[in-house]
Amino acid sequence: MYYIGIDLGGTQIKGGIVDEEGKIIKKDSIPTGRTRKSEEIVNDICLLIKKLLSDENLSENDIYSVGIGSPGSLDRERGIIIANFNLGFRYVAIREAIRKVIPVPIYVENDANCAAIAESVAGVAKGLDYAVLITIGTGIGGGIIINNKLYIGANGAAAELGHMVLKMNGEACTCGRKGCWEAYSSATALIRQTKAAVVKNPSSKILELVGGDLDKIDAKTAFDAARMGDETAIEVIDEYIDILAEGLANIVNIFQPDVIAIGGGVSKEGENLLTPLREKMKGRTFFIGDLKNTQIVAAQMGNDAGIVGAALISKRI
Ligand SMILES: [Zn+2]
Repeated sequence: MYYIGIDLGGTQIKGGIVDEEGKIIKKDSIPTGRTRKSEEIVNDICLLIKKLLSDENLSENDIYSVGIGSPGSLDRERGIIIANFNLGFRYVAIREAIRKVIPVPIYVENDANCAAIAESVAGVAKGLDYAVLITIGTGIGGGIIINNKLYIGANGAAAELGHMVLKMNGEACTCGRKGCWEAYSSATALIRQTKAAVVKNPSSKILELVGGDLDKIDAKTAFDAARMGDETAIEVIDEYIDILAEGLANIVNIFQPDVIAIGGGVSKEGENLLTPLREKMKGRTFFIGDLKNTQIVAAQMGNDAGIVGAALISKRI
């Protein structure tokens, strides 16, 4: 038996057929066309599922379940996407639509939670009972695994780890509060911090790297310039990792998980990010003597996390 996972992204809808172990046996994608009506997008998801099945010569009898990973608010009971702000979805009955194509159990889950499920089933948290996944992207996504199950809270809306406030009355956050972790440690925040540093220090190598065009600064630019020994960039990265460590130390103190996996584009820096991060977290986490410490590692599932996690939702709920 296989599972189908759909990763409903803002630019691409990715789908895949996944086995019990979280291995993708077939995957495909289509452009989301986010400005289109929800009916058209849902119809395309149905076509993608049909194509995946026919490409592998499989039928509905070979599929245990279908999972949809989407950002935003979801009604898991009714299989409804309440709001997906990227796509302008409001109360889209996605389970009902997909069941017409393939009459198997259909699950909906938050995309950051799906990434946590993927790491738990097939990635760095495999075999561990307690894990937290942090995705550093446009915002900061969180997913929490407790006792080998996804933790979603009483109403399903838990794990908004990026929206813990680290600085009262600090930077404005997209959620409406000020000083959220996300407003300092997301890729968006790093880009903002890099730009601000260049404006203050125009002789920095950062500006050279982007040919003098501030708009070309991305989340990698400061890391690249720091590698070249640029003082301004080294300072930007140091401050960035400092507050990232502050948030992670809070998460360790609250959950004491086996592992915190860090995903998203910034995690591609690997040990350039992780070594100073672990160093900065020392002394900030609660003293636990010689008890087992939380491991801080890079997430493993990369771009496939959304597909694998969505496919295997049923294994962690
Ligand atoms: Zn916030």
